[in-house]
Amino acid sequence: YSAKVHRNEFSSYTPDMNMKAHDRLRLESDLRRALEQEQFMLAYQPLVNLQTGKVVGVEALVRWHHPLRGLLPPGEFIPLTEENGLILPLGEWVLRAACLQNKAWQDAGMTPIMMSVNLSMRQFRQHQLVDRIKSILEQTGMEPRYLELEITESMTSDVEFATETLASLKKLGVQISIDDFGTGYSSLVYLKRLPIDKLKIDRSFVNELTENGSDAAIVTTITSMAKHLKLKVTAEGVENDEQLHFLREHNCEEAQGYYFTKPIPANLFENWYRHRNQIA
Ligand code: C2E
Ligand code: MG
Ligand code: MG
Ligand code: MG
Repeated sequence: YSAKVHRNEFSSYTPDMNMKAHDRLRLESDLRRALEQEQFMLAYQPLVNLQTGKVVGVEALVRWHHPLRGLLPPGEFIPLTEENGLILPLGEWVLRAACLQNKAWQDAGMTPIMMSVNLSMRQFRQHQLVDRIKSILEQTGMEPRYLELEITESMTSDVEFATETLASLKKLGVQISIDDFGTGYSSLVYLKRLPIDKLKIDRSFVNELTENGSDAAIVTTITSMAKHLKLKVTAEGVENDEQLHFLREHNCEEAQGYYFTKPIPANLFENWYRHRNQIA
């Protein structure tokens, strides 16, 4: 799984001010080819219930198996696909692949678990979003209740639009979570109104949770607020026992992070999951 990455031979693909026009064009044509040739893959990271210790779901995270540059993390290509619109076909590929995987696991007899998929702003704004998700669910045979769509606070800034879109998605029977929660500027008043199911506490607050009093206060505020609003909470980026212990003591339902495992390909997840269930 540790594909070679030759970072130094190429300039970065990240669309910053230093990205030259020809790099951008090359990335765009590489991305188009990558979509045609399905050079993308999904890595899965488990979400664990902190009371039962059970794996309740996985988050699907896209990687690009670039023919020359090796395995690229999403941070190196997702931003540009959001700019040039290629996130729409890529996002559909991700959704379809994630749904197929979830269905395959269930068909193989695995206890059903949730499948979380990240949506980008561009996808969220797409007019046919709801119809497209509906048809992906139908085509793949995935049960809607096992699909969780992750959006970010910034996508809810147009509250009218977000409320309406989320309501239509909820009607399909899928779950909605707010990713990277706490890093945006969503108003608590609107949070109450939005038809969402879960908050995912951003890992920047979890990182120094047990050393930094402000982070601890932020995390406990989020978990108690979520409880009152009847929302689930997942802590992202859990890396050690101390964080896990703190979260469990402070009413955080679920956690995700390197403590359990990094995101891994489907076959490795299956092994990991089987092993974990044997020892648990
Ligand atoms: P995210 O949705 O917040 O996903 C969690 C990220 O945190 C993942 O990075 C994961 O590898 C990382 N992570 C998980 N646990 C730990 C930990 O304990 N410590 C540390 N340091 N990091 C941890 P990844 O896979 O590089 O993804 C980065 C971001 O790219 C994602 O953040 C998400 O916003 C975006 N992304 C990934 N896949 C997709 C996709 O299919 N579509 C869209 N639109 N965005 C995606
Ligand atoms: Mg996410
Ligand atoms: Mg995110
Ligand atoms: Mg996140």
